[in-house]
Amino acid sequence: MKRCVALVVAAGRGQRFGGDIPKQYRMLGDLPMLRHTLGRLSAHPDIAEVRAVIHPNDLAHYEAAAKGLGLAPPIFGGQERQDSVRLGLEALAADPPDLVLIHDGARPFVGAGLVDRVLDALEHADAAVPALPVCDTLKRSRDDGPSETVDRAAVWRAQTPQGFRFTPILQAHREAQGRALTDDSSVAEACGIAVATVDGDERNVKITTPADFEHAARLLSGPMDTRIGQGVDVHKLGEGNSVTLCGVLVPHDRGLVGHSDADVALHALTDALLGTIGAGDIGRHFPPSDEKWRGASSVLFVKRALALVKARGARVVNADITILGEAPRIGPHRRMMTTRVASILGIDNGRVGIKATTTEELGFIGRREGLAAFAVVTVQCPASVP
Ligand code: MG
Repeated sequence: MKRCVALVVAAGRGQRFGGDIPKQYRMLGDLPMLRHTLGRLSAHPDIAEVRAVIHPNDLAHYEAAAKGLGLAPPIFGGQERQDSVRLGLEALAADPPDLVLIHDGARPFVGAGLVDRVLDALEHADAAVPALPVCDTLKRSRDDGPSETVDRAAVWRAQTPQGFRFTPILQAHREAQGRALTDDSSVAEACGIAVATVDGDERNVKITTPADFEHAARLLSGPMDTRIGQGVDVHKLGEGNSVTLCGVLVPHDRGLVGHSDADVALHALTDALLGTIGAGDIGRHFPPSDEKWRGASSVLFVKRALALVKARGARVVNADITILGEAPRIGPHRRMMTTRVASILGIDNGRVGIKATTTEELGFIGRREGLAAFAVVTVQCPASVP
């Protein structure tokens, strides 16, 4: 699969917006606006990495906005947006991705469907841009006479994320340096790269004025969807003297085998959380091939998945976990497991179910070769944003 990095441009000072902090760090609902953007892109199953380009003065704001998402360090931008994008691309060139999505930090409602359309177009094109039709009549004023009407069928509004094959767009930005171009598709066009268009998304608004901000806040506080996610996991039993289940160390005459702490219950819970927002699975976010997860506490995985859910403006309603195994017995540890899971999710113990069953000595679980877990999570998520 092609490796895709999302470059989020957030280095602007927001002169049009006013206020004492740049607009991308202002609270939109319960979270800084930029966190909505970063969280949505991080959740997309086909985006391997999200990098932000920021103003050096905003580092503290950025760190607060990105906390818990596990992103690589931000890149410092330049004077104009075009400079910031070029510096971002240059920073990525050390480990060049196949594809790059360049996105405005001030478009916090970017949806997975739009990202999919751009990525699909890049199967056959070097560049792809989401475009929306113009509904208003367009006028062109002239100094020397009456205004004229522009044929609106021939024009469209460009959004982001704009997607590119990495090497040609890096080259185009190098060549276009010093020429003021308004977006990355213009940079591509100026260097002879053919730009494909895909359907944009009206909900993917760019927040420019305080009125845009208020409108966006209303969308987040509007009607909620209830969404359900489920997860399943299995781990082998091997040598050892304890197992970790729901984040609780349980003494046993065997241990669970796995790359991390092999906590089947929290792995199932992580997948259930990711499932509520269509964010792929645990293997995509925490690849077993990545050394950094060796021996990791699975609490980390749940927390990261929860951060992605919350970046939607969503909240967890309840979680229900069933552990399958002949041994160890779960009953004596149930209360501690419930408290542990509830505290990780930030919900009351009464919203967490921890259950256990044997398989009547049938199958691999019955032969005590492994343990399995199932998890279901419900969340409430703003209905009016993608
Ligand atoms: Mg697992």
